[in-house]
Amino acid sequence: MAKLSTLSRSIDGRVAIITGAASGMGRATAFVFADEGAHLALVDRTADALNAVVEEIRAAGGTANGYVADLADGAAIPALVEKIRGDLGPIDILINNAGISVGAPIDHDFWEKAWELTFAVNLTAQARLIRACVDDLARNGEGRIVNIASTEGLGATAGGSPYTAAKHGVIGLTRSMAVELGPRGINVNAICPGPIKTGMTAPIPDEAKTKFARRRVALKRYGEPEEVAHATLSLALPASSFINGAFLVVDGGLMVRNA
Ligand code: NAP
Repeated sequence: MAKLSTLSRSIDGRVAIITGAASGMGRATAFVFADEGAHLALVDRTADALNAVVEEIRAAGGTANGYVADLADGAAIPALVEKIRGDLGPIDILINNAGISVGAPIDHDFWEKAWELTFAVNLTAQARLIRACVDDLARNGEGRIVNIASTEGLGATAGGSPYTAAKHGVIGLTRSMAVELGPRGINVNAICPGPIKTGMTAPIPDEAKTKFARRRVALKRYGEPEEVAHATLSLALPASSFINGAFLVVDGGLMVRNA
């Protein structure tokens, strides 16, 4: 039939950077974006796992390059983005997904180190990547940034102040960038995943996961990475042209449950 609406739901041919793409939600996001025809720059710190994702996408007929980088190293980020631009062309979509979670009670010796590293990876790297991509993203009025925050950006779990504070910071960064970059044609939004089955939550025993989900999550289960990836895609679409400064909670009903 003839098309009756005007906005596009296609990211075919768009150049997208996805960080933390070797595992979990980043990997799932890479697969979903590859299925939609995006040209992918996949960034992670472990070459083997990253290359496996790149190979899977290429074997399926998709377009992806892998870039090994430690995003805690701020000095490396401008050169990384320059290399991606040279390989694939100007960046259309930035998915700031890489993250770490380190338990760090406030009075433990390693708290200082945990705070510094968590902020470097989970928050400062997101801002630095935005800085490095901003001119590309602003060039045609359809730039999209999706920052992966967490339900820890809205609430808190005891013993995780570096992670919780950094994720609250991701929401602050998202709002700040939405206001600053909106006039330049870049929409900036965040996703707040709840408990998702990924590398990050793999150390939690299955029994503990089930118990937590039964008690706290309205859908009574952990989420799958792909369920978050589709929400991320939705915020990256050209058609999501009036969503700016929002956060989308993808948590099976964790945060809205009152009793
Ligand atoms: P994951 O499976 O551990 O994937 C995260 C990826 O980021 C890993 O491949 C990791 O590499 C990479 N990474 C970590 N530090 C990096 C660095 N310095 N430079 C480059 N890459 C780095 O975890 P995930 O759950 O998919 O996490 C994705 C995002 O979702 C994170 O921002 C996380 O905070 C957020 N999140 C997760 C959950 C959840 O329940 N899983 C809930 C809410 C929010 P290594 O494997 O080498 O560390």
